[in-house]
Amino acid sequence: MRVPYWNVDYGFLIDVLAVPVFAIFFSGLYSHYRKIRKGKEQLKLGWGKANVKKGPVFLKEVFTKSILGTRIYRKFYTGLAHGLVFSGMAILTLGTILVFANVTIKLPVFRGAFNHWFMSFGLDLAGISALAGLLFFFLRRLFPPDRLVTPKERTGFFPMIGLLALIIITGFLLESLRIRASGPEPASFVGNFVAGFIPANGPILSYHRYVWWFHGFIALGFIAYIPFSPMVHMVLAPVNTALADPRPGPKMGVIDFSSFDDEEGEDMPPMGVAKLGDFSRKRLLDFDTCLWCGRCHEVCPAAQTQRPLSPKMVVATLAEFLAANRFTDEPVDVIGIDAIFNCTTCAACMEACPISINQPKAIMQIRQNLVMERSELPELMSKAYNSLEQRRHPFFGTGAGPKDWQKGLDIPIFAPGKTEYLLWVGCAATYDERAQKIARAMVKILSAATVSFGILAKPRCTGDPAKQMGNEFLFTEIARENIEEFDSLGIKKLITLCPHCFNSFTRHYPELGGHYEVIPHSVLISDLIAANRLALNKSSESFCFHDPCYLARRNHIEQPPRRALEAMGTLIEMPRTKRESFCCGGGGGNYWSESSGIRINQVRAREALDTSSSLIATACPFCLLMLTDGVKKFTEDKKVFDIAELVEARLKLG
Ligand code: SF4
Ligand code: SF4
Repeated sequence: MRVPYWNVDYGFLIDVLAVPVFAIFFSGLYSHYRKIRKGKEQLKLGWGKANVKKGPVFLKEVFTKSILGTRIYRKFYTGLAHGLVFSGMAILTLGTILVFANVTIKLPVFRGAFNHWFMSFGLDLAGISALAGLLFFFLRRLFPPDRLVTPKERTGFFPMIGLLALIIITGFLLESLRIRASGPEPASFVGNFVAGFIPANGPILSYHRYVWWFHGFIALGFIAYIPFSPMVHMVLAPVNTALADPRPGPKMGVIDFSSFDDEEGEDMPPMGVAKLGDFSRKRLLDFDTCLWCGRCHEVCPAAQTQRPLSPKMVVATLAEFLAANRFTDEPVDVIGIDAIFNCTTCAACMEACPISINQPKAIMQIRQNLVMERSELPELMSKAYNSLEQRRHPFFGTGAGPKDWQKGLDIPIFAPGKTEYLLWVGCAATYDERAQKIARAMVKILSAATVSFGILAKPRCTGDPAKQMGNEFLFTEIARENIEEFDSLGIKKLITLCPHCFNSFTRHYPELGGHYEVIPHSVLISDLIAANRLALNKSSESFCFHDPCYLARRNHIEQPPRRALEAMGTLIEMPRTKRESFCCGGGGGNYWSESSGIRINQVRAREALDTSSSLIATACPFCLLMLTDGVKKFTEDKKVFDIAELVEARLKLG
């Protein structure tokens, strides 16, 4: 039977030394907490009361994301290596705790099958697994992929990888020396193997003592150093993920301007973020936790088309601010106005982040400050914004209007108490000539399926473009006007043509008191087909479907539009699809932006054209307009359509 502290005098001193080591460890963690506390708003469970009611579903989500870190495994090799190191070190730590329990309370861990399978075989296997994972990380740091070094690389991982490997290797050496001196331990396959290489006639007992102390000291040194190194993510990452809202997409929230009328202006809510100290504690925790892994950089449409924005750069820069305690001395717009306005709010970064960091919210809060406090925004966005402010829609310079798309159609106006759904047309399908065809098609579909619907007598915009361009004040003003009108008409159910409208109605309007049952047109169409209320002609045509970010990624609506397409022909998937879809480039107000160089919509259009589909389908007017423009660069032969247009053209009438 193994004897703990065998061959070592005063071995208990290591346990005594652990006390100051853990004091250093916890004081290091506390220094992180002290910085995070300088942020606004308390840290709280991001999943809120409504989600808590859904109980087990959300608990499972939090457990899998934060404790098991399931998002890390989306990259197979990195995930596997991380899993090997994490599980290996967790088992070795448990083994060390059990040894301590054996010494202090005589827990019989060195007996029978437990000793054989766990304390010998299990711990050896755990050590080998962890070493294999560490070797992967060592080689990857030597030959890093672009995402790790662009736009900047986090240093400090090398020494920690080396230290961890040294702890495991000295652990094996220790086991081998013990075996060499006192005989084989049947299940310690690594120890037995290495012991075979140790000469029998050396001072084995002395070597064993030296290695024992060395192993103990570096293990304690590693623990003490964790909070001061990038390995602090071992503690922060599960906490950050557990505190994140598990609902898809960034929870942007709304600013409460109800105290805006205060004459003194003392209770004026903060207009976005100008300095690090303006961020919430959760955002500061995000920055502190960031691994600088660059997964967000790799999927960001702006970064991938050589624009000045990289979400990794934003978070890493703010992490440096935090590390240097720069809470008030430097404005965070050092990140660059161009970078801030190039964000399409597509949330691809957030979806890719293994630890649920909300990059878009941080970017948008800086944008809000630039727009609302300093009136700084790109020229085209500024024109759209002025149009929105003066005419209540952002399509400046348009010659198209509601009369054009309604021509020749008998469209009912929403009648309180009589009409079931409000068909919310939205600004794009009202004021853009191409997008108007979506509204016309949808009216015909709803009529064919005998859905009770009506439109507003006077067209309106949700205000979403204002929110995306950073003007939260204008957004809330427009949203409140809409809520007032809906309430006066008794509107409870809405059909949206645009995923941005859907997102606003379901995510932001409830925070302003507007609670509605909202259904995106692609979902309703799919439901009507399934209920046999729409009969379609099926053909040999094939469609590839571009998932709008605000439908698939931000709201996890992926299957309904696919089901509708499959009812008409064959669906062909693009390489980047569903919630991993690549943005069309039009979000975040970037529909109204000038861009030179590689254009995001052309990248996406090329991807769609490279499929063998006969048509390109989407379910968002902005995606339709962006992709139509992108496709033109390559061909006039292949066209982009909204799902409503495709369905309407294939209706079996009569
Ligand atoms: S924000 Fe997330 S994905 Fe981006 S570098 Fe940090 S940890 Fe990686
Ligand atoms: S939201 Fe989209 S565009 Fe903005 S930083 Fe993230 S990935 Fe890039």
